[in-house]
Parts: sequence; C-alpha cells; structure tokens
Amino acid sequence: MSRVIDVHHLARDRVIGAYELDGLVVDPGPANGLEALLAGLDGVEPRALLLTHIHLDHAGASGVLCRRFPELTVYVHERGAPHLVEPDRLLASARQLYGDDMERLWGEVAPVPEENLRALSGGETIEGSIRVAYTPGHASHHLAYFSGDTGEAFCGDVAGVRIPPSDHVVPPTPPPDVDLEAWERSLHVLEEWAPEELCLTHFGRTRDIAGHLARLREGLAREGERARAHGREAFVAAVEDEVLHAVDEDLDLAARFLQAAPADQLYLGLERYWRKRAEREGAAVGEGQGVRAPATRP
Ligand SMILES: [Zn+2]
Repeated sequence: MSRVIDVHHLARDRVIGAYELDGLVVDPGPANGLEALLAGLDGVEPRALLLTHIHLDHAGASGVLCRRFPELTVYVHERGAPHLVEPDRLLASARQLYGDDMERLWGEVAPVPEENLRALSGGETIEGSIRVAYTPGHASHHLAYFSGDTGEAFCGDVAGVRIPPSDHVVPPTPPPDVDLEAWERSLHVLEEWAPEELCLTHFGRTRDIAGHLARLREGLAREGERARAHGREAFVAAVEDEVLHAVDEDLDLAARFLQAAPADQLYLGLERYWRKRAEREGAAVGEGQGVRAPATRP
C-alpha cells in the first residue's frame, strides 16, 4: 500500500497530501511543503514523481525536488510538460487567481529540467505496473494513476475534494479548463479500473467508491447549475453555507475544504465553462453547421 504524507499546507493538516508508493511520489505538493514531504519520506529517496496535473498545489515542488534529486523522473501529461520546463505562463495564470499571495501560498516554483521529464498521453503502463489514464474535466491535462498491485487509484482532483472525517464531496472547478462532460467520462475511466481505494490529494483515501463518486456527481450537477443560474456572490455564499452545513458547523473542517477548493475559484471556473460553451454553440449556429439545437444543460 502507499502512504499518504500530509504536507501541512499553510500549517493546516488534511489539506494537501502526497502519496508515496515504493519510491514513487504522486503529486509532491507545493514547495512550501517540502520540509514536511521530506520528513514524511523519512529517508526514502524518491525515484519518480507521478504528477496528476501541474496546478501548484499538486506539482509546485517538482523543480525544487529535481534540484535536490537530479536523477528524479517526472511523469506528466504531454500538455503540461512544456509549462514545467518554462513555468512563466503557468505562473502568470496562477497570478491572475492569487495576485501578490503567490509566494506565501506556494513558495518557490523552479523549472523542471527537460531531461527529467517523461511526457504521457494516457494509456501507458509505467514503472512496471502503474497504469496511466487521461482524465480531463478538472484540468485539460489531468492524469490518474492506478496500481493493480494495491488496488489504489491516485486521482489528483478528478475525484473531488473530501476532507476526513467528513464524507461531503466538493467538486474542485477552478479556471481555466473545467469541462463537465469530459469530467463525467473521466469518472467512468476511474470506475473501469474497479479500484479498491480512491486516493485524493485533498485529502486521504476512501473505500466507499460508489458513494463517494455519487456525491461527486451530485456536486458537479448542483454547483454547475448554481453557477449557470446565479452570480458570483450568490454562488460563493451558497457553497460556503453548504460546506458549513455538511460538516455540522465545524469551522476548522470547513476551512480545510475551502482552503483546498476556494468557493470564489469554483465559481470562476464554472462561469468560464458555461461562457465558452455558449460561444462554441453560438459559433456553430453562426457558421450554419446544421440545425443543431443548443445542448441540454444538466
Ligand atoms: Zn488540487
């Protein structure tokens, strides 16, 4: 079995977890969690990073880790790879969300040397027996990994955010490339693996696969509709209320959910999804591509 290493993001536990399985590290987390990661590795020298996607809460420490362990192999989706080698665009995009708070939130983001990278597209088997699947929805370059030996599926963010001991599931939908249809297809891919455990970055593992994914699908439909029908303020207030209610008003636990998935960002990602989708449909009609009616929204 793998072990989860809590990187204690901003001094809070149960927000960001890395997984270590036989020297492989799935999503090391941000560089400001490096000390906690290395302490958790407890002398194990990592041989490879398996990145689910390049968002800074998952992959921020990759470059710093390559500096420390020059032989480290870094697996990432081919669309994410160039942004690890030259993180300027990744940082510019993150700065739009986090502004001047970048350094405090994520620490140093060092480039990953090209020779350390192994670009994947999904469908590969790596490191002997780890299967790789392309799982967009949360991000267009998202991968998930499955160990047939242990029955563990390492899901990054595509299986949602759930902070124990709560079983409430929040769908993390930050900009820029949330895609609700792709997300649903990706959940099927996870189910086809028939995993015994889902390993979530935010946070920890669950064996209640069916219940967890059902709650995630309900959340995607509910928040998706909420973002389509309401403005930012109403959306944010409703999501924050919902989380607080789901955790029986436990403020510490609610704060962990909202640190992993800030309600404001959830809105921005969904709002962009609906806007882009309307633009695509408008363009298709405008170009006279048949009499296709606008797709029914969930
Ligand atoms: Zn995340």
